[in-house]
Order: sequence, then C-alpha cells, then structure tokens
Amino acid sequence: MPEVTLTAIDSFLTDDGEDALEPFCTACGGRAGIFTSRRGEWLHYIGEADDSDVEPYDPGHAPVIGWRPAPGIVFVAR
Ligand SMILES: [Zn+2]
Repeated sequence: MPEVTLTAIDSFLTDDGEDALEPFCTACGGRAGIFTSRRGEWLHYIGEADDSDVEPYDPGHAPVIGWRPAPGIVFVAR
C-alpha cells in the first residue's frame, strides 16, 4: 500500500478557500443566495447556482445566513 504523505494532501490546497463556501439558511438548512432581480434580497432557492436554473421559494421565514463548504469541493482546514 502506498504511503500517504502530507505533501500529497498539500497539493490539493488552493488559496481561494472563499470560493469553497456557499451561503445557506441555518434555520432550515436550505440554500440561500442574493437575488439582484429581487432588489438584492437574500432568498431561499432550489437548483444549482452554477446554472441559470435557480428558483427562489418562500419557506415561511427569512433566511438566516450561514456559510458551509460547497458540495463537491474538498475542503481541508489548515
Ligand atoms: Zn430557511
């Protein structure tokens, strides 16, 4: 079995850690984002932010914004 070294792990790190976080609602766990078409309001949405196919929805409360590692991106604390 090959030896796993810290050097190998370091090669995956980038300096744009900010981009690895996405905003979400800490109250319900849903995704949230700023919709410029709604006067820059934070709104819950469904869909992928990378696509244009996002749909804001109203779960009955205003989003309580928190940040979490974006799905699909390996996040390594350092
Ligand atoms: Zn919510």
